[in-house]
Amino acid sequence: NSGNQVSFPATTGVKNRRVPTGIRKLPLRIVVTGGAGFVGSHLVDKLLARGDNVIVIDNFFTGRKENLVHHFRNPKFELIRHDVVEPILLEVDQIYHLACPASPVHYNEVYGDPLEHPQKETYWGNVNPIGVRSCYDEGKRTAETLTMDYHRGADVEVRIARIFNTYGPRMCIDDGRVVSNFVAQALRKQPLTVYGDGKQTRSFQYVSDLVDGLIALMESDHVGPFNLGNPGEFTMLELAEVVKDTIDSTATIEFKPNTADDPHKRKPDITKAKELLNWEPKVSLREGLPRMVTDFQKRILNEEMRL
Ligand code: UDP
Repeated sequence: NSGNQVSFPATTGVKNRRVPTGIRKLPLRIVVTGGAGFVGSHLVDKLLARGDNVIVIDNFFTGRKENLVHHFRNPKFELIRHDVVEPILLEVDQIYHLACPASPVHYNEVYGDPLEHPQKETYWGNVNPIGVRSCYDEGKRTAETLTMDYHRGADVEVRIARIFNTYGPRMCIDDGRVVSNFVAQALRKQPLTVYGDGKQTRSFQYVSDLVDGLIALMESDHVGPFNLGNPGEFTMLELAEVVKDTIDSTATIEFKPNTADDPHKRKPDITKAKELLNWEPKVSLREGLPRMVTDFQKRILNEEMRL
């Protein structure tokens, strides 16, 4: 085993010591950075369920211990409070690097405000380099650049996933994402805040589909990048309708000004992941939303009881 430095900005990384699938020694030891977060904690659930050893590294900026508390007695699980900008030496087989604040206050995705629709991996994006959202877009783009440099220069085996809007249980309630906002607002009997004219589109994937995609990518022999998202495209007004149908048909809509540089539309072309990873999302918005609502209901109730 080589000691892997997990602080390099690979989207996912494996030091070049891979044994061909089939004869690989199991269980693996896997690091998940951001494992206390929304996506990370669901990935941890799945990896532990299949018998692997999991080390979570999280600085708890946006991650929460509650997302992992059900694993605290599991001897195959370890949790380290650590910021991934600092190096750390651990002997591991795989690294899923999911540590990143994803709130819109910290901004968007690699394609910017795309001129190609839907977006294929070969599309290079349309990002305003000095815009308010560019720190996130350009950050993701730089991470891909560095990941490929490590791959080519240091012979580190890497995988790159381009993750599209994802929702589900354990999402931060108040970080401003549209699905979490609408669900929390409907449950709290507040108007649903639609920014701009509400005609902008997004494609929402349920978190278990993303986790399956990330694992399929890691286990594959492909570097990527791969789009992981649900191509089902909704305007924000349509999303508000689905939330109303699911939670409260009497909920009202309040229009608010949109942020500058808000992408007008976003929809992944997932042909590449379908063909090479044999992956595609299974959970539609109308199926996934109720599962998230149950979780939000519990957490909002707890919050109210604490007040
Ligand atoms: N949005 C909205 N109401 C909200 C929050 C967001 O209408 O309360 C809109 C936002 O303007 C954007 C879309 O929903 O067009 C998706 O926003 P989000 O921040 O969830 O994700 P991202 O912009 O990163 O795709």
